[in-house]
Amino acid sequence: MGAQKTLSDGIAYDLSPSSPLIKFLITLGSIITFEKIGASESFFGSDFRLLQPVWSQLLRFETILRSPLFPPFFALSVDYLWVIVFTFIDLKLQHWSYFKKAKIQKDRKVTWPLIKESLKLQAWNQILWIYPMALVQLIWVPPTFLPKLAPTITELFFQILFYWIAFDFSYFWFHLLHHRVRFLYRWCHSVHHMYSSPFCAAAQHLHPFELFFVATFITTIPWALDTHPLTYWTWFVVAQSVSYEVHTGYDLPFMPHRYFSFYSGAPAHDMHHLRPLTCFEPWFNYLDKMMGYNITYEDLKRMAEEKSKRYGLYDPEDEKGLQKIN
Ligand SMILES: [Zn+2]
Ligand SMILES: [Zn+2]
Repeated sequence: MGAQKTLSDGIAYDLSPSSPLIKFLITLGSIITFEKIGASESFFGSDFRLLQPVWSQLLRFETILRSPLFPPFFALSVDYLWVIVFTFIDLKLQHWSYFKKAKIQKDRKVTWPLIKESLKLQAWNQILWIYPMALVQLIWVPPTFLPKLAPTITELFFQILFYWIAFDFSYFWFHLLHHRVRFLYRWCHSVHHMYSSPFCAAAQHLHPFELFFVATFITTIPWALDTHPLTYWTWFVVAQSVSYEVHTGYDLPFMPHRYFSFYSGAPAHDMHHLRPLTCFEPWFNYLDKMMGYNITYEDLKRMAEEKSKRYGLYDPEDEKGLQKIN
């Protein structure tokens, strides 16, 4: 019989190695660390690699994919795609009722001079930091090893989930520190807060130090596990897409925060740009909620109404007929 731990409320937990709970945790651990053990196959069924046809096609471009230059240039192309699509929406389609209705800060307009200012800083960041760093990688990073087998969907999903949780947690503290320490805010993070109403291109409007930290963290966190190249590149797409999505300035019907209450999303990050001492967490919101930093537009409206009720003006009816000199 397995070792049993009984809590005072009478719930019993079987913690023996053969218990379903322990078996599940071992399986989860093996998937995340990319280990091949029989348990993972028996728990999730056969080791069916749904991504194998895609991976086999990609292997045809082996020379390009193996190059150390591929990851940075792939990441940059994800950046450019988001910026191009949403800059077009901001400049050409923002008067469409679909986007007008979805715009979070309705009184603010995204204009080309606003975007241009941000693109200028980003061009300098890329010329002075990103491209030279990519070239340095060409010298000291060996060509990427490309295995013949694709990762399984479960490996890919759980590893990316693990990176997501790790990035979200560490960036929250980095971010909070940059708002709490006056010197760090003034020297570094205030650059990102030059815009109180964000738009997609402003996602990368960062001081080089912050850009370096974020880029390094996103790049190196998958090194903690044995990560398949396809998982690594998918993680890039996910990480960058989430960062751009929260900066769009739109609350669109298909956005994930509408379906997952634990995801912060564009309204929360828009709030952070509007009220920089709120909503620090980049992707989830559990830390903001636990620490009382999670403020919504409804909260702001309610606070303004309460204030106006307490300190606002007389009702016109109350002042009717009274003489005023000034
Ligand atoms: Zn931001
Ligand atoms: Zn901030």
